[in-house]
Amino acid sequence: MKKNCHPKRIIILGSTGSIGCNALDIVRNKNKLFKVVALSCHSAVKKLLGQAEEFKPEAVCITGKTAPLPAADCSYRLYKGTEGLTAMIHELKADMVVNGIAGASGLLPSLETIKSHKDLALANKETVVMAGNLLFNLAKKHKTDIIPVDSEHSALFFLTRNHGLNTIAEMILTASGGAVRDMPVEQLHDITPAAVLRHPNWDMGAKITIDSATMANKALEVMEAHHFFKIDIANIKVVIHPQSYVHSLIRTVDGSLYAQISKPDMRIPIQNALTYPELLPVGHGELDIEKCTISFRPVDPTKYPMLSLGINAAVTGGAYPIVFNAANEVAAACFLKSQISFFDITMITEKTLAHNWINLVNSLDDILHIDKQARNKALQLIERRNRT
Ligand code: NDP
Ligand code: MG
Repeated sequence: MKKNCHPKRIIILGSTGSIGCNALDIVRNKNKLFKVVALSCHSAVKKLLGQAEEFKPEAVCITGKTAPLPAADCSYRLYKGTEGLTAMIHELKADMVVNGIAGASGLLPSLETIKSHKDLALANKETVVMAGNLLFNLAKKHKTDIIPVDSEHSALFFLTRNHGLNTIAEMILTASGGAVRDMPVEQLHDITPAAVLRHPNWDMGAKITIDSATMANKALEVMEAHHFFKIDIANIKVVIHPQSYVHSLIRTVDGSLYAQISKPDMRIPIQNALTYPELLPVGHGELDIEKCTISFRPVDPTKYPMLSLGINAAVTGGAYPIVFNAANEVAAACFLKSQISFFDITMITEKTLAHNWINLVNSLDDILHIDKQARNKALQLIERRNRT
């Protein structure tokens, strides 16, 4: 088993987002354990430069198009664009890369991380959904570790380490139900993006918060668990757990259930990935079980049709998980801009999936081609819907 040498040199991709800021908060509190060697953002340049001022990285990368930066007396290298991000990942000496980029744009940086022989703390679930086989084969070839940051998969990762994958009959992913959880279905037809963005338990980026309310997020997480733990989709169950204390459960072959329970605070799974294979005190207050209620209930399929749509895509396999992810990403972005309604996200994704996606998925080029085709199809459907 690998040992940590301190300080562990880390690159944080998407440092200006919710995962990125939480990762930096851990570094702030455990500054002897980590050295931030690089940061990246897409367009939040001011925020990135503020982080650079505080954490003194060796490099930063801005992937989006920005106005020329004022000439600054800075001590770090500046990389630009997606090619710059790839170069930064390869050129800097680091032990681990945290991938907190949102959406399909996180795929290539994950693959480049593995190719550069660095361990990957992976929040970007889209990487696994789009290219699970490719990713894990590459990690095996380059002998790198991929540690999940997504709270459910972090829970399952540590539960399976304790119990062994062979003893597991079922994995149970918990879902908060998002902002719409306690609203009647009829109210959701004209719900606004602002209302959907009010997540009851988690403070996350916009895209995942919308996905949490449609449960596209949980469908993506079923696919993520399938690849991470090589478990059949049929043996992964989803339940609503409104409090978000139980991050996931395993059922072993004797019928027993084991759960990972903690406060809904992403700094716990992020820190566990950063310090892997060690577990260290987190120091953000432990959950007081005498004061908390824990309950579960089944998912209402009429409120969350995206869940079964995504699970069916996962079972069909091939191009379908990539298409589900791409169509959902396009539709969720349009919903955020109030161009379509909440349930249109499902309608657009369903209609995109209904196309005959018989493409072979043998290479990264195949994956990127399918992703592009599915996005175009979803956009056409949205244009057509808005014309009528
Ligand atoms: P945010 O939207 O908060 O942050 C996204 C980050 O990615 C920002 O730094 C953003 O830069 C950057 N970014 C956006 N677009 C691009 C692009 N095209 N190329 C490169 N970088 C880009 O997202 P979250 O932190 O919420 O989520 C990040 C990932 O982690 C997602 O895959 C999500 O599913 C996953 N995840 C998140 C959780 C959470 O608690 N937030 C929990 C579990 C998983 P800029 O700020 O400049 O726009
Ligand atoms: Mg999750």
